[in-house]
Amino acid sequence: MDKKNKFNPAQAIQDVQFFGEFGGVNPSISDSATYTFLKAKTMLDTFEGNTDGCYLYSRHTSPSNHYLALALSQMENTESANVAASGMGAITPVILQLAGAGDHIVSARTIYGGTYAFLKNYLPKFNINTSFVDITDLEKVEAAIQPNTKLIYAEVLSNPLLEVADIEGLSRIAKKHNIKLVVDNTFTPLIFTPANSGADVVIHSLTKFINGMNDTVGGVICSTNEFINDLKNVNDGSSMLLGPVMDSLRSAQILKNLRTLPIRMLKHSQNAQYLAEQLEKDGVKVKYPGLASHPQHELFTRMMNPEFGYGGMITLDLQTGEKATRFMEKLQEKGVGYLAVSLGFYKTLFNAPGKGTSSEVPPEEQEAMGLSEGLIRMSVGLDFDIEKTYQKIKQTLQEVGYFDKQMI
Ligand code: PLP
Repeated sequence: MDKKNKFNPAQAIQDVQFFGEFGGVNPSISDSATYTFLKAKTMLDTFEGNTDGCYLYSRHTSPSNHYLALALSQMENTESANVAASGMGAITPVILQLAGAGDHIVSARTIYGGTYAFLKNYLPKFNINTSFVDITDLEKVEAAIQPNTKLIYAEVLSNPLLEVADIEGLSRIAKKHNIKLVVDNTFTPLIFTPANSGADVVIHSLTKFINGMNDTVGGVICSTNEFINDLKNVNDGSSMLLGPVMDSLRSAQILKNLRTLPIRMLKHSQNAQYLAEQLEKDGVKVKYPGLASHPQHELFTRMMNPEFGYGGMITLDLQTGEKATRFMEKLQEKGVGYLAVSLGFYKTLFNAPGKGTSSEVPPEEQEAMGLSEGLIRMSVGLDFDIEKTYQKIKQTLQEVGYFDKQMI
């Protein structure tokens, strides 16, 4: 595909416009849980999914949720989407829709701690078991597939280790074995369009970059019409029956915030790239996909939509948990950002995932995957003066003795 005709997710979002009932430039918010019908027959038809443009009950869909879902499906270049009350409210119904008792899942071993806990601790209650693998090793992924495997699960850029999943390679394996490839694209909205590389289902926690305001949790599932309709089926759809529905007021708000995602992502990426380059030059152990030293830098570059950079997430290895703690507390005192979980905010957020967002992963497994106690995950903010931020970070590293230790 030539560059001019290449899919551009930012353009795709901008092209989706909905108007309010009085000509508002934003759509009206549907403030109703239920919807009335002029004819009883239309209601029955709607129950059976045979009417377009009719709404039945807001757990199924509301106009506001429908608008947001449409915009996100355009962004991910999928036929359809369904929004959810949280990222986990998107992930869990997808997995339960695809796998049942006696089935098996192959998952990346470095994934968000909540997803890991769901696969590892929760699903065995339903006799659904998961093999966790190094997702960057396609041979190991394929070797883990069993006759009862129903899906491969991965994060495109993994939380917290920033490993990059080869979506085309995984998709080839999934297709060969007639199973689904489900990916979480939370860390890299706009940067990757996994459906273009063969992912069957693309999930986001909207809580992060997409909403970007840290004022709500939210999630979305992007996929085919068929799969999204299955999730919403009144008889056996996991989203419909488990009910993790987003409130209309929230989805209207997230739709407005989505409008500025392209410029926010660009700035997050520029700032993170700058910090990563400077810190690497200083000899700091920094991991960032935009650095040539990142093990999957070339793969990332090959897969990415080039307009948005390499994203806002970096990790620093402070070697010990004690140093990491002192470093983060001092960074917060200096106003660099907040010691907080989550990501994609205007302020830089940092935490040590070993004891925080990945604490669900047992210590021996953390060690096997290279998650050390001193690892700090940073979601780089929208700072105007990133040079000043860099100076503060460097000074703080000096204060906690990071460079002394290096010299020993
Ligand atoms: N996926 C990833 C990659 C995440 O980092 C998170 C949360 O941190 C989630 C999913 C879960 O999203 P939520 O907290 O919105 O349920």
